Amino acid sequence: MNTFSKKLIAWHGVSGRSGLPWQGNRDPYAVWVSEIMLQQTQVTAVLERYPRFMKRFPTLKKLASADIDDVLAEWAGLGYYSRARNLHACAKQVVQEFAGNFPSDPILLEQLKGIGRSTAGAIAAFAFHERAPILDANVKRILARLFAIDGAIQEKKVNDHLWQLATDLLPNQAENMPVYTQALMDFGATWCTARKPVCIGVEKKCPFVKECQANLSDQVLTLPKKAIKAKSPEFDCDMLLVRSGNFVLLQKRPSKAIWGGLWSLPESVWKSKTERGPKSAPALKELLTSTLPKENIVALAKSIKELKQGNQIKHIFTHRRLWIQIWEGRSAKTVEFLSSDLKWVPLSQLGRYGLPQPIKILLQGLSLARGDDLRN
Ligand code: SF4
Repeated sequence: MNTFSKKLIAWHGVSGRSGLPWQGNRDPYAVWVSEIMLQQTQVTAVLERYPRFMKRFPTLKKLASADIDDVLAEWAGLGYYSRARNLHACAKQVVQEFAGNFPSDPILLEQLKGIGRSTAGAIAAFAFHERAPILDANVKRILARLFAIDGAIQEKKVNDHLWQLATDLLPNQAENMPVYTQALMDFGATWCTARKPVCIGVEKKCPFVKECQANLSDQVLTLPKKAIKAKSPEFDCDMLLVRSGNFVLLQKRPSKAIWGGLWSLPESVWKSKTERGPKSAPALKELLTSTLPKENIVALAKSIKELKQGNQIKHIFTHRRLWIQIWEGRSAKTVEFLSSDLKWVPLSQLGRYGLPQPIKILLQGLSLARGDDLRN
């Protein structure tokens, strides 16, 4: 066993995280779900949602045969919904192409929908004890510091170098892969953190202080280097909040769009944001034309009596910001639509639908006012 992995495993025995519900499990399905959920989501949120997801979809076959709407509804609030769509598609792919059994080879795992090289490595290591490296953001940071890697980690050349280091440092014994991989994850998440690595404090002593090149050259807080980010572009759009009695009008989003496959309020095309602050109310017809498929406009236009300006909501995505202007209308009746992606949904049943987080919060306000529970 090489020195790095030996020291790291010893560190894990004393200071690693323990008792997380997905730890120590060799079932590739359970490992895969936890790895996907942990991407871009805080451990505290996953602690609550992972057991719930596994209860609802306890096996790969159950997930593969589930309705995508049920999977998205279960995922609601975790963000990055492409992960939920990919989980569903990948489950089907494993059933169809691998007779319901995940392959153990990381190269085959990486061919599956939504599984990148690092996740493939984690599944192979945890479930099959394969000597496969991982390289998520935490591991990149650890390696960039240990070896004082110059250059932005987004650069291909730097990334290739990091993969090579991650491979070189693997323990020799395959049986040590689960504990080593977990130790690497824990060390990055709790000790060699981005802002407060333990070596800049006095309470804990990092096992690598003597060989860590960033520590020895006083570059701990400047490594890893990142490419300079361009300012996130800003967009705005209108959304239509039409109610008829206790029903609200929802529209299913196209699967390839942001919040793909979720149910939301009808919305206009996003435009580059040119003005901030309150907007003047557009004419009803103009608003309906910009938010609804054209074959549905006439009936609804006749039925809506008034239109008033609602809240403006700001939603921040990873790479963009969206300003949503809500326009509220009351429809005299739940008019029938020609498009199947439009639906009147009772406020009391909103909990059954996967909704984007800001829309869920907005509608929760309406439901709570009526005493409904959106979680039902
Ligand atoms: S010495 Fe500091 S920067 Fe280096 S590995 Fe340890 S915690 Fe990370």
